[in-house]
Amino acid sequence: MSDPFTDETAVAYEDGVYEDGNALAGPLSEIFAVDITAAQGCCTGCGATGPIARLRVYGPAPGLVARCPECGQVVLRLVRGPDSAWLDLRGTVSLRIRLGE
Ligand SMILES: [Zn+2]
Repeated sequence: MSDPFTDETAVAYEDGVYEDGNALAGPLSEIFAVDITAAQGCCTGCGATGPIARLRVYGPAPGLVARCPECGQVVLRLVRGPDSAWLDLRGTVSLRIRLGE
């Protein structure tokens, strides 16, 4: 399987039906040991900071695309193949993930 992020169809989502970032909880729980939807992400497009749960998630095929609710920038993309997951965070300045106390 080629890298799905080189396939521009994976970024084709525009306005339309979307879910909030909680739709990422299940797919990302395979990758992260903590609930990532509560993590604070900072958008590279507009600098808005907020929980992943606030993102607008488009999908499911060929992968999930999460956009900033403020400016529409693609913040996160996740493609799940048969034996790998591709996680693209290039639209994220940083992720603050709360751990323990
Ligand atoms: Zn933004």
